[in-house]
Amino acid sequence: MIENGILVTMDKSYRILDDGAIYVEGRRIVDIGKTKVLKKAHKADEVIDASNCVVMPGFINSHVHFTSVLGRGVEDNFTLEQWPSSPSPTKEELAAAFRLVCLEMIKAGVTCYMNGAGQVDERYKSGLRGFSAFLIQNEMGDYKKALQYIQKNCSDRMQLMLGPWWVPAVPEDVLKEVGEVSKRYDLKIRIHTAESMWEIQEIKRKHGCDGSIEYLDKLSLLCPRLIAVHCVHVSPSEINLMKKKGASVIHCPTSNAKLGDGVAPLIEFIKNGITVGLGSDGVATNNCIDMFQEMKFACLLQRAIHCDPKVMKAEDVLRMATIDGARLLGIDSEVGSLEISKKADITIVDFKKPHLYPRTNVVSHLVYSAKASDVDTTIVDGKILMRNRKVLTMDEATVLEEAHKAYESISARRITKGTKGSLTGF
Ligand SMILES: [Zn+2]
Repeated sequence: MIENGILVTMDKSYRILDDGAIYVEGRRIVDIGKTKVLKKAHKADEVIDASNCVVMPGFINSHVHFTSVLGRGVEDNFTLEQWPSSPSPTKEELAAAFRLVCLEMIKAGVTCYMNGAGQVDERYKSGLRGFSAFLIQNEMGDYKKALQYIQKNCSDRMQLMLGPWWVPAVPEDVLKEVGEVSKRYDLKIRIHTAESMWEIQEIKRKHGCDGSIEYLDKLSLLCPRLIAVHCVHVSPSEINLMKKKGASVIHCPTSNAKLGDGVAPLIEFIKNGITVGLGSDGVATNNCIDMFQEMKFACLLQRAIHCDPKVMKAEDVLRMATIDGARLLGIDSEVGSLEISKKADITIVDFKKPHLYPRTNVVSHLVYSAKASDVDTTIVDGKILMRNRKVLTMDEATVLEEAHKAYESISARRITKGTKGSLTGF
């Protein structure tokens, strides 16, 4: 039982409950209400006192990469197209990178992420809910094997989707096959789309389409299963197409800004009823995973470019980082809000901090004032992954040490053997 907290439920009526409690049994939320009432109704084995805390649905980081974390702070000033290649990481280096990103997400109150190819066991062991995007570049690859592995070795906490890399980087016939396989197996498709101006010029030159969305539509890929990451450069007619076909968007404002790619037409997506999730993108283009920071930047950037403080509100971005992220992944009946019978994916934020006082408007504080380091407890599937900022599913000191060693060994190879492969591709 979590008791004495301020519950920001993100349910259909966006209820905020003072002095609230949540009773969890196994993986699911069994009851929600006032602490006094729930204490009478249930006898809990374990109690988390959430006094002075906000209890909210766990963040859904809709777009993240893992391996590129080893390039944090060393690849700060490149465009997407100029990105330098790095030596291919070894299995151990990869595992170290994946563990570091999982650790960073748990400490930031993220309970579910989308992306990451490979290292399923490392990601699953962390306790996080994850969507693995099976990486597709020049050919379809053995997606069936990946699907079978996840179905055999993981619970529904890990799911597979198809991950064609980037619109201009995947051959036309492979993209068509992705569409067919997605339909046959009812798998979502994640693809980097309309991220840079170069990409749009390339699509025009090679395929005669006005943009990447138009091109994807020509290949019959625009559908409710399509999740288009970035969508910075899309025309009004393409937004209309997305609305008609039911595709959704993942917005990564920090990454787009850092790469100098521009600002996505977020307000237009929302006005047209397109579901938008929020993502950090890979650490190399961010440089951290902090969904509070991502929400604030998303909101303020739109206000800045539209010269209008009313164009976007704190509630809108909080929805993107929780229930709308769940909606685009097709799991909004299970997570994304605090409601009876949903899975217990919960983040508890310690509000006893100077930057979160006075206690005027908790939603405003979550978006404009809170930081990842304010997260006290992270719970996924009813299991506590972090409590009082101590991560319980991995040893923090070891993860940090191994990640730095991995960075050093890759750097040494970069100097001695030249470069091969890329850290950004996973
Ligand atoms: Zn990406």
